[in-house]
Amino acid sequence: MLIYDLDLDQITKLLEEWDEPAYRAQQIWQGLYQHFYDSPEQFTNLPKSLRGRLAEHVIFSPFTVKIYQDSSDGTTRKTLFELPDQNLIEAVLMRYGDPADNPQIIASPTGRGAKNRRTLCISTQAGCAMGCVFCATGQMGFKRHLSAGEIVAQVMYYARMLKEKNETVTNVVLMGMGEPFHNYDNTMQAIDRLNDPAGYNFGARRFTVSTVGLVPMIRRFADEKRQVNLAISLHAADDEARVSMLPINKKYKIDELLDACRYYVSQTGRRVTFEWALINGVNDTPEVARKLAAKLRGLLCHVNAIPLNPTAGYEGRATDRQRAVLFKETLEQAGIPCTIRMRRGIDIQAGCGQLAGSVSS
Ligand code: SAH
Ligand code: SF4
Repeated sequence: MLIYDLDLDQITKLLEEWDEPAYRAQQIWQGLYQHFYDSPEQFTNLPKSLRGRLAEHVIFSPFTVKIYQDSSDGTTRKTLFELPDQNLIEAVLMRYGDPADNPQIIASPTGRGAKNRRTLCISTQAGCAMGCVFCATGQMGFKRHLSAGEIVAQVMYYARMLKEKNETVTNVVLMGMGEPFHNYDNTMQAIDRLNDPAGYNFGARRFTVSTVGLVPMIRRFADEKRQVNLAISLHAADDEARVSMLPINKKYKIDELLDACRYYVSQTGRRVTFEWALINGVNDTPEVARKLAAKLRGLLCHVNAIPLNPTAGYEGRATDRQRAVLFKETLEQAGIPCTIRMRRGIDIQAGCGQLAGSVSS
């Protein structure tokens, strides 16, 4: 039994069975989510006998760190975790807005200012079943869903690490290995757990969940009116092009997908982000940009374009800077806001879609 898989009620119930008072559950909750304890001995406010019982019956750390790597520019750390069943998952921390080599500037009382963003990219599955051709995770295939607790534990791991430097995680993106909407319940449970004001208290708006476009789940997400940011991996402006890259497009066509996005906007009033991996000569021409703009007209959205990251299983090349800028300008002239994201962590295979679950040499 993994402690992060239990909500406060479940911990309370467990303690009841052990004839412990309910306030002990709150102490455990605070220890986990406010002090980031990861072993029973750290809960010094609990009686020794209870700590012993917890150690015997409950797992506090669901994975071991197989290896971690820092990018050469020091702004990105990738950690490879091994789960008890030997599956591997990865989580990546990206530092923005300050020189990583100057900790004095990074540390601030709250650690949450715009100048020192700490964005954590976490996994929701080991592998992925969606098979997108340019994605390293897709290339490795599906291994299994992560439990809510295994998703939560990735955040707690980094929260603990950053705390030592008086820093905090400021944003969490569910863009690591896996398709969050294929593991919907566990993913939402993890978000709710981290969101709890009596626990980690991580605001809904600081999460971004990214989906390849599972239409029924987008509609469900919209109906739940969550304040979590939504990103959609679009990558193509017509079905023929999209189906050749993202097999899921056989099932859910672009127009159906965009209808679900419009529904999301109508339900939540929130803007949708469209992810676009710029692939040289494939989806980066001004014609494609104009086609895309026509499709997105009237939808509250913006396009997040990122030059393709190389993967072993896909031949496409990244768009160069000049073409990327032209793509962005063409979209913007047609009224669709677009940003080009910087590539990060390429030297440690920690860029988007590169989380293959194996250590790069
Ligand atoms: N399964 C979800 C979230 C994980 S993928 C999804 O697909 O949205 C995170 C993002 O990385 C997605 O937008 C995905 O399309 C993108 N991506 C995958 N492989 C990439 C690559 N080689 N280069 C750039 N982006 C990539
Ligand atoms: Fe899965 Fe997303 Fe990769 Fe597609 S891009 S294979 S959905 S992780």
